[in-house]
Amino acid sequence: MRDVRLDDRATPLDLTPEEFAEIGHRLVDDLAALLGSLRDRPLGPDVTPDEVRAALDASAPIPEEGMDAATLMRDTTRMLIEHSLYNAHPRFFGYVTAGAAPIGVLADLLASGINPNVGGWALSPMASEIEDQTIRWISELVGFPVEGDGVLTSGGNLANMLGFYAARAARAGWDVRMHGLRSEDAAALRVYASTATHTWIQKAADLSGLGCASIRWIETDVVERMNVAALRAAIDEDLEAGHHPFMVVATGGSVSTGAVDDLPAIRELCDAYDVWMHVDGAYGAFAARAPNVPEELRAISAADSVALDPHKWLYAPLEAGCVLVRDPSALLAAFSYRPEYYSFQQDAKNYFERGIQNSRGFRALKVWMQLKQAGRSGYVRMISEDIELARRFFEIADAHPELETFVHALSITTYRYVPDDLRARTAEPGVATYLNELNEQIQARMEKGGDAFVSNAVLGEIYALRMCVVNFRTRLEDVEALVEISAELGRAADATLRPDALRAPAVEDGAYE
Ligand SMILES: *Cc1c(COP(=O)(O)O)cnc(C)c1O
Repeated sequence: MRDVRLDDRATPLDLTPEEFAEIGHRLVDDLAALLGSLRDRPLGPDVTPDEVRAALDASAPIPEEGMDAATLMRDTTRMLIEHSLYNAHPRFFGYVTAGAAPIGVLADLLASGINPNVGGWALSPMASEIEDQTIRWISELVGFPVEGDGVLTSGGNLANMLGFYAARAARAGWDVRMHGLRSEDAAALRVYASTATHTWIQKAADLSGLGCASIRWIETDVVERMNVAALRAAIDEDLEAGHHPFMVVATGGSVSTGAVDDLPAIRELCDAYDVWMHVDGAYGAFAARAPNVPEELRAISAADSVALDPHKWLYAPLEAGCVLVRDPSALLAAFSYRPEYYSFQQDAKNYFERGIQNSRGFRALKVWMQLKQAGRSGYVRMISEDIELARRFFEIADAHPELETFVHALSITTYRYVPDDLRARTAEPGVATYLNELNEQIQARMEKGGDAFVSNAVLGEIYALRMCVVNFRTRLEDVEALVEISAELGRAADATLRPDALRAPAVEDGAYE
């Protein structure tokens, strides 16, 4: 190695400023064209995993030698554009998934260009302050006390988990961080969550060492809201048995149907039993100040912790989640260790102490720039319009002779296709099973077709289609189109799938003149 030149290193990764600018300008042009043409392109490719692997040349070994950066960027851009599913497409109604706001896309480029490490203030002075302001603005946007604390995370799952660990540290009743769950004082910790709760709760209970058996599942009513009387009974029963209830997980917008728990009643109960109240608002929290949401949602402001997801209803590019805590010391109390090799300021926030991550990216920038571009009123308007679009869809689908609607809540509507002649027979077991198969097929065909995308919800025994609008690009014409697409695919699927036993009985002679 002695003979290598280190005074003027020609490294294979660097680009001259001119090369960087040229490649970058072209990339921005390509992305601008993509974003501008979303409405006119299929929502996703109709491809198999093998086809995608072939396009990637998936089994190729790591290249020994490098390649020209401009060609690399051009090829990669094309490969991705041709083989991706576009959640920003105006007719993407699946899961709770938003397309990225353009300014957020550019903000991510800017953030990685500067590349601050937002773990420590000294490494990211302005970025850390921007994250701080972002968290305060998010609190203001949803009506959460600004005196609390918070941190941005990779998404809703991690945000919820940080809330879980904050609750555990605050309410275990012993030093659970030092002694774990085997302390002499350790009663069995119990967490309460409705059966509509997202699966992060299992991961949190599992990974924290509590185990999934420490989750008390609370039943819901028909529209998926936690039964608060059953919650009270479960807590009483556990206290009676010598267990230690430490946390209630309420849901502010369930994934499946958009149900909002009775947050004020749950707050009262948590106060009465001195239990931590956490709200999973990964889907619904940002709607808390919209005019057209259930009044109960506004009570996220009274929670001890709330999980939110800027990459959902703030339309930020993946990834961006956020947890807010009411007690400004709650995150530090759950996560802070100060190693000797960090000599960081104490008069500013060091985000590595507020969660699990150490080195942290600048995910605050895209959220902050989006909040500045749209403003509070802009967000309230976009979110309330999304909700209104889901309501309009409900209305139009409800009036359609071949569609059956179930629930509209927040920006989700559940529905299904029912052939006209089976309408009166949906309760017959054979028909019910067939309708489930039929709607599963409709969903699959829609996904392949690329004109629209919905996911599903299981409502009791019913396989329902589920459309969710968290998309500022969606217009009335798109939800109208979804009604027609669903009905057309339903008709086509029914024509090929219907078992003979469910065909209409032979028509009487003379019925057709
Ligand atoms: C999306 C969602 C989650 C998980 O969030 P990710 O960002 O996907 O990690 C948790 N809870 C609810 C209610 C959600 O909608």
